Amino acid sequence: MLQVAVYGKGGIGKSTTSSNLSFSLAKKGAKVLQVGCDPKHDSTKYLINGKEQTTVLDYIRSTPPSQRKLENIMLEGSGGVMCIEAGGPEPGIGCAGRGILTTFDTIEKMGINEIDKDITLYDVLGDVVCGGFAVPMRNEYADAVYIVTSGEFMAIYAANNILRGLLNFGTSRPRVAGIILNRRNVENEREIVERFSDGVGLPIVVDIPRSDEFIEAERLGKTVSEAFPDSVPASIYGQLANDVIAISTGVRKLYDPHPLSDAQLNDLAAGKAITVLGNFKREACHCNKVRRGTGSCASRGAVFAAGRVNDLPIIIHGPASCGYVMSHTQDVHFLTEMGTNPSTAGILRNNIQSTRMSNDSSIFGGHEDLMRIIRAEANKGKRTIMVITTCVPGMIGDNLDLIKKKAEEEYPGLNLVVVKADGNLTGGSEEGRLMVMQAIIDFIDEVREPVDMECNLIDDNFIVYSSGRNSEWTNRLLKDLGFSKVHKIIDNVFLDEVVGCKKNILNVRTFDDPTVNGMANAMAEKKGMKIFSEPLPKGYSDTLAWVEKVGKEYGIEERSQAVSEKIKQQYAEALERHRPFFEGKTADIISGILGDDDWMIEVLIDAGVQIRNYYVFRMRIGGGSGPSPDFESRYKDRLNVREMSNPLEIKMAVQESNPDMVIGGVMIGWHGQQFKEFSRDYQCFTHYASIEYLDYMHTMMTSAPTMGWRSWEGEEESKPETGKAEPVKITQQQIEAIKVMMGGHMPPKMEAALNQMKEGKMPEGVPPDMLQMIKSMTGGH
Ligand code: ADP
Ligand code: MG
Repeated sequence: MLQVAVYGKGGIGKSTTSSNLSFSLAKKGAKVLQVGCDPKHDSTKYLINGKEQTTVLDYIRSTPPSQRKLENIMLEGSGGVMCIEAGGPEPGIGCAGRGILTTFDTIEKMGINEIDKDITLYDVLGDVVCGGFAVPMRNEYADAVYIVTSGEFMAIYAANNILRGLLNFGTSRPRVAGIILNRRNVENEREIVERFSDGVGLPIVVDIPRSDEFIEAERLGKTVSEAFPDSVPASIYGQLANDVIAISTGVRKLYDPHPLSDAQLNDLAAGKAITVLGNFKREACHCNKVRRGTGSCASRGAVFAAGRVNDLPIIIHGPASCGYVMSHTQDVHFLTEMGTNPSTAGILRNNIQSTRMSNDSSIFGGHEDLMRIIRAEANKGKRTIMVITTCVPGMIGDNLDLIKKKAEEEYPGLNLVVVKADGNLTGGSEEGRLMVMQAIIDFIDEVREPVDMECNLIDDNFIVYSSGRNSEWTNRLLKDLGFSKVHKIIDNVFLDEVVGCKKNILNVRTFDDPTVNGMANAMAEKKGMKIFSEPLPKGYSDTLAWVEKVGKEYGIEERSQAVSEKIKQQYAEALERHRPFFEGKTADIISGILGDDDWMIEVLIDAGVQIRNYYVFRMRIGGGSGPSPDFESRYKDRLNVREMSNPLEIKMAVQESNPDMVIGGVMIGWHGQQFKEFSRDYQCFTHYASIEYLDYMHTMMTSAPTMGWRSWEGEEESKPETGKAEPVKITQQQIEAIKVMMGGHMPPKMEAALNQMKEGKMPEGVPPDMLQMIKSMTGGH
């Protein structure tokens, strides 16, 4: 069975060519199937007496898969040619290309491959060679591709684009059959097309004259070949049929695509000779060289942010699975927060729905699906509704502005907020989150006066705020200062709370961070809200300064002084409790990604701890050189700051320093080491964080190491011993390989150790677990 595709610009004569060719082939005894792949769905019209036929796409919209039968969409036409029309959406809506894919998939499932036939002919629109219309070009379909053109430049331009498209689809075997010249009677037509055919190295297979016989035949509901079998066109289609038969028997040569470059096309259009050099070439690969993880998308970021307003109806416009995953992750957040920290858990929101776009809506447009859900929500009385789009409506061009207009006209007072997170395939969740932030800030009613002694906290995610006891401590401090209620803008709030939040006097950012600052700035600029200059305080002295400033700015000095006294007293008591234990102990700190350890450094120093080294860990996975945050600290001059990009390098330095405690080591993922090691704490807000940190460290330092919490093996507490393990001999090649694995950068100490090992010696000063790592890297054991 031979599969032939006929491509060309719209209106150029593909269907005329295809149906005449099919008819001729049938007359010569071939069993032919013609599949029209143009939304115009008139490919087979003159094979079936000018009638309309049910298109595949219309059929699958009305008939469930189990009831579909091939005979309902396949008609027998003149000469016994089997006729199928793919169909497509209304112009301007949905995605016709996606329709071609679906058609091919559907007729395959309906058993088209089991039908006995010699030749399948695809009649395909070639103006837009998008992925969908390019399907018939694929290796598994077209064995031979004909391109129909006239001498008009636009037709040649389209022909050239079709050749470019073909470059993407398996050049493992030549598949281009050549050019069919269908005349429009432009000046020098043959010569122009000849120059094109020479340029691309393809033959002009047939030359069909322009003739009124075509129109006459169409009036009879027939192809020219059937209506006027003795006409010139009929005999030419006979030749074309012979050409196809020659291909099917393998005697006729096929060609590779060699499209013209833009410059060459310009030469052709200007009537100049085509410069032979510089044929259009596809770049080898457009793929991103950097392997990226499975990140989430802008839509998901938007849903995540919007879902923090408990009673805001959110409609995810997209496929069911997108909606499912997004709402599901929201629920998972709820469950984990519930499980780990019931005090900060939000409520289970049930405010997310999806339009569940189907294959149909991706072809015919998703407007109806969306309007249905909007109406359902509006009929429930909702007057603020948020629609978040996913990729699919973006790709098929659903017009959300139109939907908004329509819905708001239908329901007076409705505010339909559209978050266009589609068309954003390269954008991450951050982008979606920002869009929603802006939209939610727009909800705030700017007319209200700030009167209530309540506080708005500003953060886009509240993740750190919700960790551990941060929220509890913040609330305690604010209550002491006389602020009766805390509203999280935005997390676990109700729409009314957001709308009315300007009535609360104190507006505080949780962090001094670009996203949070962006939100705060928008609240100030758009809504005239006064934002307090300092973010939430971290640790002891920061909290004291903060409390004093709040007191001054909000006229509650007396109260703030009382609070300050209490803070000083609580902190002094904590130091008194812990100082005898910590006095003179040594620590190394490994900075984390977030930095900002000042509050922790402060309390350690106040408790008498000597901080030996502060390692700034510059992550350089695979030797990459991404930007790294600058290290800032008010203790900068008092600390021995060492920047390192390699976890092993840090490890060896820590080994050498051999402090009583290492803070932050878990960040770089080692275990089984010989130190008391502590995580850096996300519980950082207020002076309570400082006090709690001392309690925690003291408890951990005095608990028994044999309990097994400290290492995976639960080994005895001991200082590192080297020399116990057997030496492993390694080669120079292996050393080089390790270097590569470490991104080209190896600490000198490690290199020295490896060189010792190369000589069969036991390296000195290498911790056992590192030795173990080298062994596994080199296949030791
Ligand atoms: P396409 O399938 O490429 O969109 P059609 O095959 O439907 O184009 O042709 C468009 C119109 O041009 C039809 O009405 C057809 O009768 C007419 N036509 C095509 N080829 C010729 C020709 N060689 N001479 C006169 N009319 C033609
Ligand atoms: Mg057509």
